[in-house]
Amino acid sequence: MAKGKKQFAVIGLGRFGSSVAQYLAKMGYEVLAVDESQERVQDMANVVTHAVSADSTDEEALKALGIRNLDVVVVAIGQDIQASILTTLILKDLGVPKIIVKAQNELHGKVLSKIGADKVVFPERDMGLRVAHHLISPNIIEHIELSPDYSIVELQVPSNMAGKTLRELDFRVRFGCNVMAIKHGGEKMDVTPRADKPLQRADVLVIVGNNGQLLQLEQAYA
Ligand code: ADP
Repeated sequence: MAKGKKQFAVIGLGRFGSSVAQYLAKMGYEVLAVDESQERVQDMANVVTHAVSADSTDEEALKALGIRNLDVVVVAIGQDIQASILTTLILKDLGVPKIIVKAQNELHGKVLSKIGADKVVFPERDMGLRVAHHLISPNIIEHIELSPDYSIVELQVPSNMAGKTLRELDFRVRFGCNVMAIKHGGEKMDVTPRADKPLQRADVLVIVGNNGQLLQLEQAYA
């Protein structure tokens, strides 16, 4: 293992946790995988550096695993919200530098942020949003989440938008969205797009906005 490379632990080896652990291991990182289920630990044994069966709500067990010495710990406990919160609290007390936790819902996420989780992720919600964007508009090329409420999307100019100018389209007033840049095929990118230049079918708009309003814009031109 290359010295200086980040070391990770993943607690909870359900679909999400095992996928995180697997990809980190594949990229050559040292990963400690923890689950209270022997069976799940067994499944990961040949994939990650160390796979250990332990209850992460047991502080002594986590101490014994030396988890405080790792750089990042991912808490991927799904259904059991209490176990997820307790585990996060213990990791925080142990002084783990970076704790990333999967949340089941908004309230769970709020609690996790309050007790000091460095990053809270909502995989199901985020994937659902992505799929919705693609379903509403097949012209969406990319979707980047900036915060729970705001995103950047890349939209291939649809035929019912081609030939119109940004002034005519008036996205700021109609959808509260802003066109940050326009890609003209390949690598060429105009980061100060002009309001009076007709858009072309080959252009790709880079738009920032509120998720709900972005979806409305996509729907209007789908
Ligand atoms: P997903 O939705 O990602 O599949 P699951 O809820 O199926 O998530 O999986 C969560 C995993 O976390 C399970 O394998 C479960 O055994 C594990 N887990 C739950 N509570 C604890 C705990 N206190 N300590 C260790 N592992 C736990």
